This record gives sequence, C-alpha cells and structure tokens, in this order.
Amino acid sequence: MNSWLNYAVGMQAILLFSLLLSFSFWGQEFNYRNYTDQLCSPGFHGRGYVNAGDSIAAEFIAQNFKDIGLMPITESYFQPFEFSVNTFPGEMLVYTDQDTLRPGIDFLVAPTSSGVHGTFELIHFSYYKLLSIDQQEIHLSKNEALLIDLSGIASDTLLLVKKKLNELALFFPILELSDKKLTWSVSQDANKYPYIIISKEAFKEVPAEIHLDIDQKRLVSHVAKNVIGFCPAKRKTKKTLLISAHYDHLGRMGRDTYFPGANDNASGTAMILYLAEQLLAKPIKFNVMFVAFAGEEIGLLGSKHMSLQSPLPLEDLRFMLNLDIMGSGEDGITVVNSTLFPKEFDLLKSINAKKKLLKEIKPRGPAANSDHYYFTQAGVPAFFIYTMGPNKHYHDIDDRYEALSFAAFDELNTVLLRFLKSIK
Ligand SMILES: [Zn+2]
Repeated sequence: MNSWLNYAVGMQAILLFSLLLSFSFWGQEFNYRNYTDQLCSPGFHGRGYVNAGDSIAAEFIAQNFKDIGLMPITESYFQPFEFSVNTFPGEMLVYTDQDTLRPGIDFLVAPTSSGVHGTFELIHFSYYKLLSIDQQEIHLSKNEALLIDLSGIASDTLLLVKKKLNELALFFPILELSDKKLTWSVSQDANKYPYIIISKEAFKEVPAEIHLDIDQKRLVSHVAKNVIGFCPAKRKTKKTLLISAHYDHLGRMGRDTYFPGANDNASGTAMILYLAEQLLAKPIKFNVMFVAFAGEEIGLLGSKHMSLQSPLPLEDLRFMLNLDIMGSGEDGITVVNSTLFPKEFDLLKSINAKKKLLKEIKPRGPAANSDHYYFTQAGVPAFFIYTMGPNKHYHDIDDRYEALSFAAFDELNTVLLRFLKSIK
C-alpha cells in the first residue's frame, strides 16, 4: 500500500482496505507482503504497549483468522493473560546546549529506566574506576548523573561493567556512551532512576551537562491476548499440530518513535496465516492449531501462559512449528531443537533436498530464544525456525517492512507445507 495513503486515511479505512486487498474474496492468494506491511504501519504502534498497539494487532489478526475460515477453539479467538510492563508513552527528549539527540538513532532509554525531567551535570567515571568502587562510596548531588564511556572495552570486561552499571542504576541516574549497535528491548520492571544509552557518534564532544525530558509509565496489570484459531483434520482426530508465531514487538519509545518489528515478527505472523489458508483449502490428517503469541519480547510470556493453560491437551500435540524472523532467507534457515528431534529434522532436509528450495537448513541445539521453549519443556516436540540473510536489523527502528527481501518466503512455505503433510 502507498505510504501517502497510510497517513491520509483513518485506521478503520486502512484495515478495511487491507482486508479487501489481503484476502481471497476474488480468488487470489493471501498477500503476505501486504499483510506484513499492515502490521508494521504506524497505526499498530510497533505492536507494543503504548497506545495499546498489541491489542490493535490482536484484533486485526483475529479478524483475519475469521475471514479465512479458522475457527475459535473456545468462545473467542483470544486467550487473555496479564503482566506488568514499563512503557515510554510521551516525551522522549535528550539534548545538550549543542545537540538534540534522535531517539532510536543517537540514543535509547534502557527498558528498565524511570522517567526524568531535568538538567544533569555529568560526572565522568572510567570503567576501571567503576569496577573498583562500591555504591556507598559514590556521592552524587540531586542534579548530577554518572557518565560511563563503554566504547572500546573487550567483551568479557563489558559484561562485568554492564552488570555493575545495572546495579548502580538502582541508586543513580546513568548515562552510558556506547560504540555498539543500539538494540532495544522491553522490561516488566522499572528502576527508580533514569538510564540512557547514547551512541558515541551522537556527540561532537562530550558535554558537561545534559537535559532529559522523558515520560515513563509502568503498567501494573496489562492484559495481553494470544490469538488462537483451529483448522480441523480431513477425518476426525484428536491429533493436532501447533503452528505459532509471536505478533508482539517492542512498541513505541516516546510519542514519535516506534519499532516496526517487520522481520521480528510481522513476517512470521504472515507465514502462519498463509499456511492456514493453504491447510483450510486442503486439510491434512492432523488438526492444526494456529497461535499468534503475545508477550514474547518481554520474556516468552504468552507461550509460557499457553503451555500451562492449553485449550487442547498437550499430549494431543504431535509437533509444534514456531516461526520467527521469516523475512529473509538468502542464506537459508536455522532449525532450533533439530538435535532433539532427528527424525523430523531428516524429513525436513530430505523434502528440501528433493526440490532444492532453500540454500541451507542449519541444525541448532535447544535454546530458550522463542515461543517453542516452554512447550519443549512441557514435552511437546517442537522446532523453532528462523531465516538467515544479510538483513541484520534487529530490535531497532530500521527493522522495517521496506528492508525485508522475502528471499525464501515461498520456498520455505513449500517446504513447511510438505513437512506438515508428511509428518507421521
Ligand atoms: Zn521475535
């Protein structure tokens, strides 16, 4: 969709228009590109917690489940659950007398940061001084903040320094100068003091004082929703496959900056809908439960909740495919848990070898890095699949729809469909 249209019309019109474009009212295939683009648009607010972006996404996904013909398992498509989350809904200003820093480019606010409104004199600490000093020995007045330059530190030392800084952040305002790529995340907790991570390149010279104007709000019991849809098997059975992708991302960091989360994981949300459409048209010998998980980025909370409160008994789940980061694929895919389930991994590889679809299918052992984790722990056999390629935008403001190549989307879709049809 044209970007001028995004801004020119209201949210409802966008949704309606996208539904008309996306779905096969006139027999055309599910438009996964358009669907991904929609989920990354400003009206979804980065599918986080500012402006209820995650709820807007949940409604959109449930409506799409309904439109293609997935059925709800309970009385609705939603499985709600609660958690606390630290958010930055308003002002996000960091500036000196010389420079105004750009959110997401020149600086990030640490996910656990408090809000702050004031001018601070910067007290420089070297990292070795920081490591050798106790918190009780540091005395700052009300309008002073610690400034620590972390550029050029070896990675093992950096871990130590970071740990110390996170402890000190309970007692003092902290500014960290970094020469690393800025990578954001989201936290349940909030500290008492602000913690800002500033790119070293942001300053021509390090200033003596800095102005901070940052609004912050911790939501104590935020309600998020997993979205669950069901596609029955060809013949009646209890045996079910689970196909999942998380739809949540990091949301907004201040009023004007959002993290679109295109590769992570609007792309996977599109892949499960594409598979749903294909399996509804041609059912297989398993039922398939499709789940768009909430709360992944804050610590796999949606999948953890569902692994404890599954609408179908876990013992009926024959296999789980969790899909995250589906937007590249130039270098093939990685399969987490492949070493735990060698039979299924061989099946996946032989399907690919026959048709020469993906460049590589790389094995990887178990890892607690996406929504398969708690299901694996609960005894459900599972793979977590992600694509590999040159797109390195991850948890930053440049993980945009426009940066996705979809280099192996159709090929991977073919491999996954055949896998689902062939699994015993
Ligand atoms: Zn992800």
